[in-house]
Formats: sequence, structure tokens, C-alpha cells
Amino acid sequence: DVADIGVTGMAVMGSNLARNFARNGFKVAIHNRSVGKTETVMDNYASEGEFYPSESMADFVASLQKPRVAIIMVKAGKPTDAVIDELASLMEEGDIIVDAGNALFGDTRRREAALREKGLHFVGSGVSGGEEGALNGPSIMPGGTKESYDRLGPMFEKISAHVDGVPCCTHVGADGAGHFVKMVHNGIEYADMQVISEAYDMMSKALGMGASEIGDVFAEWNKGDLESFLIEITAEVLHHTDQTSGKPFVDVILDRAAQKGTGAWTVQTALDLGVPVTGIAEATFARSTSGSTPQREAARGVLKGEAQTLEIADKAQFIDDLQKALYAAKLVSYSQGFDEIAAGAKEYGWDIDLGAMARIWRGGCIIRARFLNRITEAYERDANLPLLLADAYFTEEIAKCIPAWRRIVAFAAASGYPVPVFSSTLSYYDAVRAERLPAALVQAQRDYFGAHTYQRVDTEGTFHVEWTQDRRETKQD
Ligand code: NDP
Repeated sequence: DVADIGVTGMAVMGSNLARNFARNGFKVAIHNRSVGKTETVMDNYASEGEFYPSESMADFVASLQKPRVAIIMVKAGKPTDAVIDELASLMEEGDIIVDAGNALFGDTRRREAALREKGLHFVGSGVSGGEEGALNGPSIMPGGTKESYDRLGPMFEKISAHVDGVPCCTHVGADGAGHFVKMVHNGIEYADMQVISEAYDMMSKALGMGASEIGDVFAEWNKGDLESFLIEITAEVLHHTDQTSGKPFVDVILDRAAQKGTGAWTVQTALDLGVPVTGIAEATFARSTSGSTPQREAARGVLKGEAQTLEIADKAQFIDDLQKALYAAKLVSYSQGFDEIAAGAKEYGWDIDLGAMARIWRGGCIIRARFLNRITEAYERDANLPLLLADAYFTEEIAKCIPAWRRIVAFAAASGYPVPVFSSTLSYYDAVRAERLPAALVQAQRDYFGAHTYQRVDTEGTFHVEWTQDRRETKQD
């Protein structure tokens, strides 16, 4: 019983996480269902630190210092449940089981409640940054009890990415809060990736630019407000030449985007909570549209564009407009994502520090970006900010982008280019700031066919009109 921490599941994520702990001086117990993977880790990396390999789960648990901390990094779903059950049967009151895989937060809540009954702590932890992050410093989003964080937190903070000396890890909130925040992180990632792709598409189609030239633009943008991991790798991808064909790499990739489900979870959860995450939703649907092969084949060459070819007088101005539109659309997507986290916190009783979420996303994770500092600052100014966009800094920033953003969306609509995230985020922006929305008419329609009632602008109360009789208005109790 000497190991500080244990990791079970020695596939790529688990082994990298274990190596990260070992490299940071922790004694790490390791285990995998099939022994071969554990042996591979020992054969290749034993010299990186102190590893304690076990063939059986019982030996693995026995090798851990009390209160024990065991991290599960196996296939999400049933395999995770199976490993939790096995671990739980071997552990004792006060021990901590961590699921660092990509679980749905509802599953984490269920598992946490079941293990709490047995006196065990269950921590659902988001881990972002892929293989590379797991090895060199991920962004870590642990949920669960404060007590479990006291034991676990210092180790996680040590192995996480650091920005300006600050770890990209903090206690998110109780039970499923960590996995909830990781889910929204991934949703925001979908929106970021799609809107970057829309900017690329416009440069390619409207300006006829080649991949490498577009890569130069992204590399330039990466020096300013848009500086981020995703913009950086976009530039790199666009500069890459396919080794087989000698063509730009992006041009030989089939245009069908796959998804593993976290974007869809974010949208489904947002629908349940009634939070409009239009940027994330459109980005998720854009992947679905790209993969709708029969529909695309039926439409191609059949559905008419009737597009208007608009002339671009100033290429540099157009590219500058795209940059501003990208920044504005990104701000809206993040604002919507933070709304979803706030709504989730309210629904499930989590005390989530929204500014801290932006802080732990500054390094290690896929959406790491310079402007996340600004989000943290906004929540430091007002922890109960009802809308991120309404923070004084962002209000000013987005105002500078609006004319460009409108020009881009109008240009795309006239030209027949799809820009679901550019346009849906602009519509949201105009809706949320509107003095009056056509929702009044929707309420009237609902009252007409379903007696769903409505409220008036000029007096308190709930009303209904007897539409099919004398159209008298009655006040409801
Ligand atoms: P996989 O998701 O490919 O899972 C393989 C591992 O699961 C192996 O160790 C395998 O053991 C084990 N396993 C599968 N079924 C069972 C079972 N019934 N009982 C016990 N063990 C089982 O591994 P990854 O490393 O790619 O991912 C691990 C987790 O991390 C997943 O939840 C995934 O969603 C998440 N992930 C997160 C990423 C991130 O950026 N945060 C990126 C990639 C993954 P065996 O060798 O015996 O088959």
C-alpha cells in the first residue's frame, strides 16, 4: 500500500495519464483488464518514474495508500460500470473512485449516488487535451465532493497544464458537475471548429484562395485576439501537403465530419434546460448535414441556388470582415455555453464558479485561447453576470465587429454559401438584444388553438380569449 494514486485502463489515455503522474514524482499503481497493455507500459516507460503494476484488480487496490484513489480510464458506458463495480467491491469507506473518461453527466450522478450509499467517493472528472494533453498536462474538470478534492486536487493540479503558473484544474462542483462542464467544453469546441471552417470556406469560394494562402491568413489571425490552439492547428493543416497526391491535404479529405456524441449531448441537455445554444447546435447539425450522404446526393445539381454573384471590391477588407465575424460568432457561442453551465448549475444545485471554468480552459484543452482571460475577468467583475455578452468589455468588442459580421452573413446568403454558425449567432445576437420579439404572435397563436393563455404588456395577470365564441378576453386565476 505505497502508491499515491492508481490508474486502471492502460490504453492510450490511461497510460499517458499514469506516465504524467509518474513524471511528476507520484508513485503510480497501474492495471489493465488484459495484462499485455500493463506490460507494454512497464517495458517502455518504467524509467520515467515509480510504477506499481498489478495483474489483478485486488492487487491493484491493495497497492494503494489509504484513502485510496483509483482513476478509471476505460471505454465509456458499460465497461466503466463494470470496472466501477469491481473496484467498489474491493475498496473501503472513504476511498475515492475517479472516472476520467467521457461520461454523460447523468450517468455520473447515478454512479455517484450509488457509491455514496456505500461510503465511497465517486468523482466524475472531465479531462481535455487528448493523448498529448494526458501526457504533458491536460485541463482537468473534477466533480464530486469537496472532501475528495482535498485528497485528489493537489495531485491533479500538479499534473495539469499551467498558464502563468496557475493550474488548469479546479474543483468544479458536486457529483456530475465536472462531466457537465467537460460536455459543454466539447460543445463549444464544435462551434469553434465549425465557424473556423466557415471562414475557410468563404475564403476558398468567394475569394478563390488556395489552402496554403488561407493557412497564411489563419497564421496571421493567430497573432491577435483569435490566438488559440484551434486557429493554430488550422493554419498548420492548411499548409500541409498530401504526401500521396501532392495536393493540399484539406482538398483530398472527404467532406463528411464525424462525431462521437459530446456535441449532441450538449445540445440535448440545452434543449432540456431551455437554453438556446444556437452556435453549438448549428455546428453539431452542420456535421450531420455533411454526413447526410443520400440527401446530399439527391440535392446536388437538383436544388437551384439562384445565387447572386456579388463582387468583392477589396479582398483585404473582406478578410478583415471575416476575422471580425469569426470573433463575434465565437463570443456568442461561448456566451451561450456559459449560459448552459449556469442553467445546469441551477438545475442540479452545483456551485460553479464560471470565471474559474474559463481559467482552467486557458491551457491543456482543445479550446485553449487567449481570450478566455477576458471571460474570467468578466466574471470577476460580476460573478452573477446574467449574460457574458452584456459584460462591458465584450459589449464593446462585439460592437466593433457588427458591421463586418452583417456584411459577411449578407454576402453568404446572397451568394448561396452555407454559414450556419456565422448566421445563427448573429440572429441570436439580434434576438437577445431586441426591444420586442415576434414571440407575442406565437403566444397569441398558442392561445387560439390550445387555450395556452398569455400575459399583457399593460397589466398583470394571465388571460385567454374565447376565440371560437365571442372573442371575449377572460382573466385566469
Ligand atoms: P478506449 O476508449 O479505447 O478503451 C480501451 C480501454 O478500455 C482498454 O484499457 C480496455 O482494456 C478497457 N476496457 C474495455 N472494456 C472493458 C471492460 N469491460 N472491462 C475492463 N476494461 C475494459 O481507451 P482510450 O484510452 O482511447 O480512452 C479512455 C477513456 O478516455 C474513454 O472514456 C474515452 O472516451 C476517453 N477519452 C478521452 C479523451 C480526451 O481527450 N479526454 C480522448 C480520448 C478518449 P483491454 O485492454 O483489456 O481491452
